[in-house]
Amino acid sequence: MPIITTSKLFKQFGTGDVAVEVLRGVDLTIESGEFVAVMGPSGSGKSTLMSIIGGIEPPTSGQVILDGVDIAKLSDDQRTIMRRRKIGFVFQAFNLIPTLSALENVSLPLELDGVDRKTARARAAEALERVELLHRADHIPAKLSGGEQQRVAVARALAIKPAILLADEPTGNLDSRQSGRVTQLLRDLATQFKQTIVMVTHDANVARSAFRLLMFRDGNIERDIPQDEFAANSHAFNVGSNVGSGQFPKSSSPIASDPAILSDGNR
Ligand code: ADP
Ligand code: MG
Repeated sequence: MPIITTSKLFKQFGTGDVAVEVLRGVDLTIESGEFVAVMGPSGSGKSTLMSIIGGIEPPTSGQVILDGVDIAKLSDDQRTIMRRRKIGFVFQAFNLIPTLSALENVSLPLELDGVDRKTARARAAEALERVELLHRADHIPAKLSGGEQQRVAVARALAIKPAILLADEPTGNLDSRQSGRVTQLLRDLATQFKQTIVMVTHDANVARSAFRLLMFRDGNIERDIPQDEFAANSHAFNVGSNVGSGQFPKSSSPIASDPAILSDGNR
C-alpha cells in the first residue's frame, strides 16, 4: 500500500517578478516499508518536497495523499494532528530542547498530543532503547555527542510510531563515524521494523544504505532508481551531487565498505 502519493505537485514561492517555481510537477509514489534516498543539487527543491509531503506546507497545486488521506482536504487543525501522529521528522540540526533530558525530549511530542505522562515516558524509553541510548536517558543534549543527539532526535521521531520518517540531511552535521552509526540505525529501522523512510542526503555513501534512489534536479525527479538496480550497481550511478565528484566514492565509510550491508541490500 502506498504511504505517499503525489501527483503533479507544483510549488511556487513569491509572485510576479520574484516568483520562483521550486517544484515542477512531481509525481511520486512511496510504498509502505520503502527506504528512499533523495539526492540532488542544493536548491533543487528537496527540502520543499519534504515539507509538503510532511504536511508542513501546502503545495501551490497538485495532490498529496498521505496514508490514504488527501491532505489538501484537511483543515489546518486536522493537518496539524495528522502531522503529529503520522510524520516523524529528523533534520540536519537536531532541534532538541536544551533544558530537557533525552527522555523528556523524546516524550514531549507524545505529551503534547495528549498521551498521559507515564505512558509517554514509557514509550520514550522504548524509543531510546531502539536507538541504543537508554543509558543516556537522563542526559541533557549538551552532554551528548552530535551523533547521540541525532539518535535522540530519531527516537523522538519514532516514539509516535510514524507512518513515515522524513529525514532531511540527517548526517549533515556529523563526522563520518557518527554519520555511519546514524545511517546504520535508519537502515536497521527499515530492514528490521519495516519503517518507511525518506531521507535527503548529499552523501553518496549514506544514500547507498537506502533501497531506492531519487535523483532530484530543477524541481523534479530526474531519475528514479529502484532497489535492485541501485543495490547491484550503485557504484555505476553518477549521483549528480553538488558535493564531491558526483560519483559514488570508494571511500572508507563503514557503510560503503561493509560487505554485509551491501550484500543484504543486493536482494
Ligand atoms: P534543497 O533542499 O534541494 O536545497 P529547497 O527546497 O530548500 O532546496 O529550496 C529550493 C528553492 O526554493 C531555493 O531556491 C530556495 O531559495 C527556495 N525557497 C525555499 N523555501 C523558500 C521560502 N520559504 N520562500 C522563498 N523561497 C524559498
Ligand atoms: Mg534542503
